[in-house]
Amino acid sequence: KVRVRFAPSPTGRLHVGGARTAIYNWAFARAMGGDFILRIEDTDPERSTEENVAVILNAMKWLGLDWDEGPEVGGAAGPYFQTQRTDTYAQALELMKERGSVYPCFCTKDELDAKRAKAEAEEGGYAGYDRTCRDLDPAEAAARIEAGEPHVWRLRVPENRGAIEFDDAVYGHVSFPAEVMDDMIVVRTDGSPTYNFAVVCDDANMGVTHVIRGDDHLSNTPRQILIYEALGFDVPTFAHLSMILGPDGKKLSKRHGAASVEEFCERGYLPDAMVNFLALLGWSLDGETTIIDRETLCENFSLERVTKKDAVFDETKLDWMNGQYIKDMGPNAWVRSSLLWLAQANILGSAVAAGTPIDPEAREAAFDGAAIESALADVQERAVWYCDLYPLVSERLTRLDEIADKLAFMFWGKNVQLDEKSVNKVLKKEGARADEALAACRGVLADEGVAWEAEALQEACRAEGERLEIKPKLLFQPLRVAVCGNMVSPPLFESIELLPREDVLARIDQVTS
Ligand code: GLU
Repeated sequence: KVRVRFAPSPTGRLHVGGARTAIYNWAFARAMGGDFILRIEDTDPERSTEENVAVILNAMKWLGLDWDEGPEVGGAAGPYFQTQRTDTYAQALELMKERGSVYPCFCTKDELDAKRAKAEAEEGGYAGYDRTCRDLDPAEAAARIEAGEPHVWRLRVPENRGAIEFDDAVYGHVSFPAEVMDDMIVVRTDGSPTYNFAVVCDDANMGVTHVIRGDDHLSNTPRQILIYEALGFDVPTFAHLSMILGPDGKKLSKRHGAASVEEFCERGYLPDAMVNFLALLGWSLDGETTIIDRETLCENFSLERVTKKDAVFDETKLDWMNGQYIKDMGPNAWVRSSLLWLAQANILGSAVAAGTPIDPEAREAAFDGAAIESALADVQERAVWYCDLYPLVSERLTRLDEIADKLAFMFWGKNVQLDEKSVNKVLKKEGARADEALAACRGVLADEGVAWEAEALQEACRAEGERLEIKPKLLFQPLRVAVCGNMVSPPLFESIELLPREDVLARIDQVTS
């Protein structure tokens, strides 16, 4: 059975590159009917924090990447934090001692530094640890350990091991010359495991069959293979994922703007769109299809279709894709998500702290908490048409954070907040002609004989404009500014239809006093 893992180090937020690695592992497990394990590699005590663990778990939940084993859900191969697995590393060391594949090294740091400096000055340079302790008499070594002399444990790389080769599921055949492989340290003086040793112990003990990870780990792989061999364990299949580049061709980083999953959440991207977009950074269904939902991804993901070419993070494409997902999310999902954005912009109900929380509980709290109760009451009052706002914007949003800007005018009652530029450009510039146009429209909108319905209103206004010989552009622009406050609002008459007549008339009066 396929078992894969995503193994983040909690030294910061979940970067989009890490998120893609997580998605590939998750989708591969789902496609193969395997298990997806989440393991927290928190062995760097200075940089790992509990807060970062929480942020990573929340980012995983927000993306909808459910794990079968790991923090919060447990599992038979746990614990899933490296700091809680110390005894398994000690056991693995015992096993390697029995197999004679490690040896204690008593060389001090000063001695090693001196050796390195000397080797570097000579021709050929430093070629790794000189193996001083490799052939110590076992009895002597045991006595020195017994006497409490500080020591590390080093891997006894077989004398005639030859090149270390493996078939990477993405990179193809990879070969590293054995000479570059040091007798690396696996356990430090303080008894702690080195990074490569811990990863191999965990992957082996957890029964991981495929290691899918960023290609920044490619150079660790030959070392890890030697450790598998030293332990006598099966070597898993490796799949190294290419880098994600920014539009400038450099490795994607903070310099390029948002880089963490959390930031994309706060900026109004949908998790479905993020998963779709990230999945396509290096994988494709058929080389063509761009909108791929989770189910399709989970059914069809395969390592064969992962490319080793670097992927470019194209934010324009992400925006487009997010817009597609907003268009397709439907009114119910939209109502739920839009509420929070409107509350955060202080448009509906009382203020909710800005920034959409990625923490699902915090999101729930924002919806159900006291702060948003009044927003819900506001909505209740307008229940008849709140859902109807969706078609007005569904095809015009690229991100949810634009909701507030686009829809604020619907919640202003009788007092429009006028955008000064639009006022100057339309109302002031046209002067009397704008007033004339507004008066014409006002007459129609005040006429109870005309159905309060977008098409009928628009038609009647147009007819009136024709009668008065006012050009359509001049007729409708002042009305748009009066009702919506600016020139870039959603469709005018569809919006008017959703507003109470007396509010629309009051708004017109406000600008034509
Ligand atoms: N903890 C490592 C990282 O965050 C991943 C190790 C691995 O996947 O083997 O980059």
